[in-house]
Amino acid sequence: MAAPTELPPLAPGATIGILGGGQLGRMLSQAASRLGFDVVILDPEENSPAGRVSRGQIVAAYDDPTALNVFGRVCDVVTFEFENVPAASVERLAEAGALVAPGPVALAVAQDRVEEKTFLNGVGAPTVAFAAIDSLDDLTAALQTLGTPALLKTRRDGYDGKGQVWIKSAKQAAAALAELGGRPAILEARADFTRELSIIAARGRDGTIAVYPLGQNHHAGGVLRTTQAPAAVDAKTERRARAIATAVLEGLAYVGVIGIELFDLGDGRLLVNEIAPRVHNTGHWTQDGCVCDQFEQHIRAIAGWPLGPVTAHARVQMTNLLGADIDQWTKLAAKPDHRLHLYGKAEARPGRKMAHVNRIAPL
Ligand code: AMP
Repeated sequence: MAAPTELPPLAPGATIGILGGGQLGRMLSQAASRLGFDVVILDPEENSPAGRVSRGQIVAAYDDPTALNVFGRVCDVVTFEFENVPAASVERLAEAGALVAPGPVALAVAQDRVEEKTFLNGVGAPTVAFAAIDSLDDLTAALQTLGTPALLKTRRDGYDGKGQVWIKSAKQAAAALAELGGRPAILEARADFTRELSIIAARGRDGTIAVYPLGQNHHAGGVLRTTQAPAAVDAKTERRARAIATAVLEGLAYVGVIGIELFDLGDGRLLVNEIAPRVHNTGHWTQDGCVCDQFEQHIRAIAGWPLGPVTAHARVQMTNLLGADIDQWTKLAAKPDHRLHLYGKAEARPGRKMAHVNRIAPL
């Protein structure tokens, strides 16, 4: 197969495949359809939020070989809306002839917190000090080096603050390991941050990079509640964040949109918390704050199109509506400065991301 950079841009009418049928897949699908593409979703859940706005959905497990073969054959390019896609599935798709973007290297790095931090430090993007933990001996030794409090996280499959436990004293080591079910873990030193920022950036097939203004995020219970953007940052912080984004994108030879979560230490230093090789919840503000939002940008990048403009034309506060928050939709829909984005999920389970609202103000 030709290298992605040598391929012509994908013409309207071509088919884009998305692994995952949640709200990110839905908003990607909507952006793709506006650019004239057909979208097919692969997701085990029937009638997924993304499947309902797409040309079609294959209802199958992410590692179903027959489904992957069909999916790979009908799609000209395949992307994903979550990073825990099995690596073997991506290989199978590539074998079936589909171009997969972002590629397997970005996926592998983002799936394992130790690999991720090792990669980041290797490209000059600083992180908290950390240690790989496979046993109680490892943890006891790491607690001595990193001190307490420290955060023990599973190496893989963690999201929205799940699979994490704070260790306040060395006496809690065995209990903390047990809480994570003895899975391979990482111990992280505590970041004494003053605020959490994130940067959404994109790299095209031709290596062009576009970086959105920074967002400032507020989490509660490990889940994102709000993003304010563009964040009030000094020029040095902005430059530093952009340099980090560029180093990460180039280091991964990345194609698509990436979300990079940052800790601002308040003294000019930024640490990378984690990278998400996909469109990101902290980038939803771009839908109403930028000419080309993160969803269109991702589709442009993976289709080999030129990247779109990333300057902000409005100030946005994005708020996630979790669980029963969605019941406020009539009230929110009546506010002229609010733009409501509903995900079409039937069941409002507690804590489930049901929608978000962007409150817009002039810059
Ligand atoms: P994560 O799942 O890694 O994104 O972590 C969820 C949240 O936990 C982050 O947004 C931070 O608020 C907090 N957190 C994660 N890692 C650290 C750390 N090393 N030090 C302090 N807070 C952390």
